[in-house]
Amino acid sequence: MPERVVIIGSGPAGWSAAIYAARANLNPLLFEGTIKPEMIPLGQLAMTTEVENFAGFPAGNIRAFVESAVDKDRHYNLPPAPDHKKDGEYHYAVQGVELMELMKQQALNFGTRVVGDDIVSVDFGTKPLKLTAAGGDTIESHTVIIATGARANYLGLSSEESFKNRGVSACAVCDGALPRFRNQPLVVVGGGDSAVEEATYLTKFASTVYLVHRRDELRASKIMQQRAFDDPKLEVVWNSQVDECLGDDEKGLTGVKLKSTVDDSSKTLDATGMFLAIGHTPNTTFLDGQLDMNEKGYIKWTQSFRTNTSVEGVFAAGDVADDNYRQAITSAGTGCMAALDAERLLAEIGE
Ligand SMILES: Cc1cc2nc3c(=O)[nH]c(=O)nc-3n(C[C@H](O)[C@H](O)[C@H](O)COP(=O)(O)OP(=O)(O)OC[C@H]3O[C@@H](n4cnc5c(N)ncnc54)[C@H](O)[C@@H]3O)c2cc1C
Repeated sequence: MPERVVIIGSGPAGWSAAIYAARANLNPLLFEGTIKPEMIPLGQLAMTTEVENFAGFPAGNIRAFVESAVDKDRHYNLPPAPDHKKDGEYHYAVQGVELMELMKQQALNFGTRVVGDDIVSVDFGTKPLKLTAAGGDTIESHTVIIATGARANYLGLSSEESFKNRGVSACAVCDGALPRFRNQPLVVVGGGDSAVEEATYLTKFASTVYLVHRRDELRASKIMQQRAFDDPKLEVVWNSQVDECLGDDEKGLTGVKLKSTVDDSSKTLDATGMFLAIGHTPNTTFLDGQLDMNEKGYIKWTQSFRTNTSVEGVFAAGDVADDNYRQAITSAGTGCMAALDAERLLAEIGE
């Protein structure tokens, strides 16, 4: 018997789709992926610390709630609770892993079946749709929800890796308001619209934002460029690339070493934060081009305000189809939409 709904991916989009599909008695099967250098089960939020902008999670004694809600056999996965106290009470934002474990638990509570494997290939030319897992299993399903996310591109420096979550970030909207970045010099790397947008956004918090760009002109649109040039807190550092992230275990990132792209010179900038804005790569290789994608490689939604893709029965949710918002809450929202879209199609085809 083919499955009714298979969900690929275990970030906010995947678990939200699972919660809705399971509550609709569709008995969803979710592939949560395996650990890889660029991606881990539970998604991108599992790679970060505080999440301050997911509605419903104000700072407080979050840990007590998490421990009471998540099955004991997964407590080992939870990060140590930060000891932030205010007026003698615990006061800290939910950690990324904690939030994701709560989403997983909510999906399990309604009966979602979870497989700890990757989907490595698909055949969307047949009905039912066919999926193959890395372990060799073949799965048939009437509907598939793809929620495999996208990964931020990093420079690939080993020093950059050591300061991730301690100064190095790939998301200004997610992290810019954190205390370590307030009234401090920050570096943004990139030269396109999103780099300028992130740099302009960060000027709200930073003392100065250095926009470091490899070339002598920005790729951003003229209007965005003008906004950058007019901003007194934003300085463009031309013809330069980050050669090394500087800092120590105690303080995290304290600066970056820049190398000129036109001569042999180098210099150091003090900064408590370095934000990468050099694009994202959606996790779609396993699809082997069987769905229509946009020019950046993201899955195309084919109807407005629906999660339908170019193949009937295949829906896409979260960052894998969204190169615009890229937030946990928007991913969760489209995960919900995908489950409802799948449920309607199943009703139409009598499944
Ligand atoms: C460092 C960092 C901090 C962030 N902070 C915030 C924040 O504070 N607030 C906020 O709203 N957003 C934040 N974001 C963005 C947010 O994490 C993403 O928008 C969100 O996680 C996207 O959810 P998703 O479900 O689409 O995909 P993801 O979270 O990317 O999850 C995709 C999942 O799919 C799995 N997968 C991939 N390929 C396969 C496959 N072939 N088979 C099976 N499984 C597969 C992966 O293992 C992964 O678990 C942050 C991102 C980063 C990187």
